[in-house]
Amino acid sequence: MKLQAEGVQAGYGKAQVLFGVDLEVGAGELVALLGANGAGKTTFLRVVSGLLRPWEGVVRLDGQDLRGLSPARRARLGLGHVPEGRQIFPLMSVEENLLLGAAFLAWERRREGLEEVYALFPRLAERKGQAAGTLSGGEQQMLAIGRALMGRPRLLLVDEPSLGLSPRLAEEVLASLERIKAQGVGLLLVEQNVALSLEVADRGYVMEQGRIVLEGSARALKEDSRVREAYLAL
Ligand code: ATP
Repeated sequence: MKLQAEGVQAGYGKAQVLFGVDLEVGAGELVALLGANGAGKTTFLRVVSGLLRPWEGVVRLDGQDLRGLSPARRARLGLGHVPEGRQIFPLMSVEENLLLGAAFLAWERRREGLEEVYALFPRLAERKGQAAGTLSGGEQQMLAIGRALMGRPRLLLVDEPSLGLSPRLAEEVLASLERIKAQGVGLLLVEQNVALSLEVADRGYVMEQGRIVLEGSARALKEDSRVREAYLAL
């Protein structure tokens, strides 16, 4: 499923945050959206998933204009969103959290979804009856991703999955995104960990103060002198 954003402007109150963002994610592509804290990356994801109405611009999924569609409608079209900060329900079990991600699907489909998520994240299977709040940070991030997968997305937005994780766990979580991609799901990954995201991404965009200032293949971005100085500290 292809995502196309054109000329997206958005903000909060009178404060403009996005100043005309053009971005594409092809079907089955893993694309990184990079940039410093406060650049507007999260705001852009909120526009795509319908949580924030843009001031200008269009977002399309497989050519369909999403303007006016609620977040729930967009989810049914195949758009998944793993929000920043995970937002899992700590007192509910792992499995109950997962099932919340498939509330709009038939029971049979939920069973299949659980099997798929447990195959992708065996640790969640081992802990399915446990309260989600007792999971480690990395496991909670896997749960947040698993919950989004339960909705059968064909395009998944993932906001800062490595935040607060040890380097080893961050690597593990980002590697899981490659496995999701291998199943044909497109991903738009927002990350401050530029080095790690360029290891898993096909392409990337760099956002500064609400504008895309650089785009290219992950390989080209890794070698770009501006990226190396500003984001890789090389
Ligand atoms: P981070 O990695 O910290 O999430 P980001 O690139 O995702 O950074 P955004 O969260 O999109 O950046 O924030 C962009 C700007 O919008 C910031 O200046 C932020 O203070 C502002 N902002 C974000 N959310 C709101 C809100 N709900 N109300 C007002 N301003 C907001």
